[in-house]
Amino acid sequence: MNSSQHPNPIPISETAGDRQIIYLPGTKCAIKSQVPLASLTSFRVGGPAQWYVAPQNLAELQASLEWSRSEGLAVTLIGAGSNLLVSDRGLTGLVIGTRHLRYSRFDLGTGQLTVAAGEPLPRVAWQVAELGWQGLEWAVGIPGSVGGAVVMNAGAHKSCIADILVSAQVLSPSGQLETLTPDQLSYSYRTSILQGSQRLVTQAIFQLQPGADPQQVLAATTEHLEQRRRTQPYHLPSCGSVFRNPLPYTAGWLIEQSGLKGYQIGAAQVAQRHANFILNCGGAKANDIWQLIRYVQHHVEERWSLLLEPEVKTIGEF
Ligand SMILES: Cc1cc2nc3c(=O)[nH]c(=O)nc-3n(C[C@H](O)[C@H](O)[C@H](O)COP(=O)(O)OP(=O)(O)OC[C@H]3O[C@@H](n4cnc5c(N)ncnc54)[C@H](O)[C@@H]3O)c2cc1C
Repeated sequence: MNSSQHPNPIPISETAGDRQIIYLPGTKCAIKSQVPLASLTSFRVGGPAQWYVAPQNLAELQASLEWSRSEGLAVTLIGAGSNLLVSDRGLTGLVIGTRHLRYSRFDLGTGQLTVAAGEPLPRVAWQVAELGWQGLEWAVGIPGSVGGAVVMNAGAHKSCIADILVSAQVLSPSGQLETLTPDQLSYSYRTSILQGSQRLVTQAIFQLQPGADPQQVLAATTEHLEQRRRTQPYHLPSCGSVFRNPLPYTAGWLIEQSGLKGYQIGAAQVAQRHANFILNCGGAKANDIWQLIRYVQHHVEERWSLLLEPEVKTIGEF
């Protein structure tokens, strides 16, 4: 049996080796057991999801949520996995990955872009640059999904999602759709009320400025990417900045001044090029990274009396 033979009227379960696959009623959606999460995160660490599903549309998303409710399972949301540290023990319950929720609509008259949660932010940045739309040049080096960026209020080069968001469509755990404005999302530095809220961002509308010369917008976008590649270590798995900046300081400066650049636990290392990055130098465990985060926090607090707050979202048991 394969998923193309469905939709089916009731959940159908089959076993493949020691894994189980459940096909949800009325959809082509397959929920799989024991799915490794390491390859779905930018750190490339973490154990399996008890159950994993990657819906392709709203109906499949709603069916997945309904199934989790009927089974009494907790739900964890994963976008591009670029700001996550998943436990080596994996995650219980249902992990919903948004990466297959894809579409974008460009309103050439108004410069409004309606984009699905699973679209990669860098791809969207290049697409609007090619149209000569300004406003997303800064986002090209952020390897998250649109949904994850809306939740995190992702930002770089003094710009952030809150600057361009018109509204976000969110789905509540009970399956209700709601449209929220930036005010309702209570945006501030890398935060929104969506963090830890169980509401799933399904789509965002961004306001951009059309009418510029595409070559200029492409050049500005390229320059942002090159600047990041010069100053940040993109060559090994990481989650970008591990800690939030405790303004007026930057976390990277505090860590560097504490003499921690290059410090390593297992295969997890404080990057030489940018001290607020922790790199998986090959075969690191989530626990190595977790221990290193604690070590850095401890040493920076001892020296500066400041507790660095992780920006990375740690999920599962540590
Ligand atoms: C090399 C590198 C560079 C980076 N540079 C930057 C940077 O310059 N600026 C910056 O802000 N970040 C940066 N990041 C971090 C990361 O890319 C951002 O935080 C990004 O917004 C996370 O998006 P994501 O889709 O990967 O979310 P994930 O990591 O998958 O999830 C992050 C959080 O959002 C939740 N979530 C994800 N999608 C949804 C959804 N659709 N609905 C509800 N909740 C959801 C998750 O449950 C989790 O709590 C960088 C990361 C890397 C690896």
